[in-house]
Amino acid sequence: MKNNKYLILFNDCIPVLGYKRSIIYNIHSSQYFFIPNELYKILSYKLSNSIVDILDDYSIEDRTIVNEYFSFIIENELGFYHSNSNDFISIDPVFSKPTTINNAVIQINHSILDNYIDLIYQLENLGCESIQLIFPDSISYAELLKFLSSFNTSSILNIELMINKSFQLEECQSIHKVQPRISSFHFFNTSEFKYDSYEYFNIFHSKNDAFDDSNCGAVSPSFFNFNFISFFESLNTNSCLNCKLSIDKNGFIKNCPSMDRHYGHINNTKLDDVVKLSKFQKWGNYKKDEIDVCKDCEFRYMCTDCRVFISDKNNILSQPSKCGYNPYIAKWKNEEDWKSVAEWRFENQNRTDV
Ligand code: SF4
Repeated sequence: MKNNKYLILFNDCIPVLGYKRSIIYNIHSSQYFFIPNELYKILSYKLSNSIVDILDDYSIEDRTIVNEYFSFIIENELGFYHSNSNDFISIDPVFSKPTTINNAVIQINHSILDNYIDLIYQLENLGCESIQLIFPDSISYAELLKFLSSFNTSSILNIELMINKSFQLEECQSIHKVQPRISSFHFFNTSEFKYDSYEYFNIFHSKNDAFDDSNCGAVSPSFFNFNFISFFESLNTNSCLNCKLSIDKNGFIKNCPSMDRHYGHINNTKLDDVVKLSKFQKWGNYKKDEIDVCKDCEFRYMCTDCRVFISDKNNILSQPSKCGYNPYIAKWKNEEDWKSVAEWRFENQNRTDV
């Protein structure tokens, strides 16, 4: 009889409360499931009680709904019934990375290509694993191959290329053959939007300019992404700027290329000195749980947090300005009856639960 048993959520299925609805994140399979907030309450506070004890808290009519909630958990393989609630331990949500800088975005100035070789060494010494190289000027196949040879003995694991020119598939294959760290080619300013996935790399074609700010900080369900690591990173740090370093096209060292503020120029500033600065590090520490509106949003640990394009320039903890989601009504801007957070707050300003 299930009623004498306990419902146990799998450790990698984590309920996250939103204002209007909640989500169970399956951080193992990267799938998510919307759930009502009442089920969130059961999963978060009542699972130390047996099924029969949980049902006792509800009226006869509501027990049918609660039983449906339990079936939903079992059918979607988010949990299981067990004879004891204390046989399993939870995942410790602490997050830390062994590296100072984990990922870097570099806009390459074509006229000083050789200057970047030392920069790559500096990034390796900081523990950088992943690097995005943006070539705003057209670069030839031969020049690109020569430049990429700087990575031949590198400890950098992953390279994404963004190039203001389109290469043929055969050229991409040849480049990947000599530099297998490349995971994607993104050709911008092309005549079409196209995405192709191959065995070892992806190719994107986009009409956008790589320096077009409209690409940065955009929020859309199609960009949502999470896994075991990114979930806990998002819980504890800023999901965009933690352990990130950027060099803009003029050689200035920044957290993100779209930011105005910089920490010096690559010609006279060592990256090691920049990453020690508290004013550099602070940007990686803004968590989604501190951001206005986002802290009430069920998507907050799968949504990248932009701190450059924000809705109130005077409040660094304000919602990303390019977000069209209102978590207080659980609607996106293109949905019927959507209203902005400001409108919703104005209409609900006398409510005590807002
Ligand atoms: S409200 Fe915040 S967390 Fe939610 S979708 Fe918008 S930007 Fe992402």
